[in-house]
Amino acid sequence: MGSCEVVVAECRCCGMWEECTASYVHSVKEKFAGVWVCGLCEEAIKDEQVKLGVGVETALQVHASFREMAAVDPVIRFAHSLLQLLKKKIIPITTSRS
Ligand SMILES: [Zn+2]
Repeated sequence: MGSCEVVVAECRCCGMWEECTASYVHSVKEKFAGVWVCGLCEEAIKDEQVKLGVGVETALQVHASFREMAAVDPVIRFAHSLLQLLKKKIIPITTSRS
């Protein structure tokens, strides 16, 4: 069932990085025109797509420009990093399972 190799992927939108399995990275890249985005950005991009009725590439650009504004807001930055932390605690990636 896909590759269990763990790679570090960097979000094209917010620059946040995450350890993911290679197969997960691949599936996200397939959805987002060859770029990898983190879970939070993925949800936001999907939202933009639905709201604006645009393709994934346009939604990605819209979200990226919104993200530039968010980057200066420390509250959003804090929320984002907290989410990353929680995700790591809730879903530990185990590479070796004997
Ligand atoms: Zn992101």
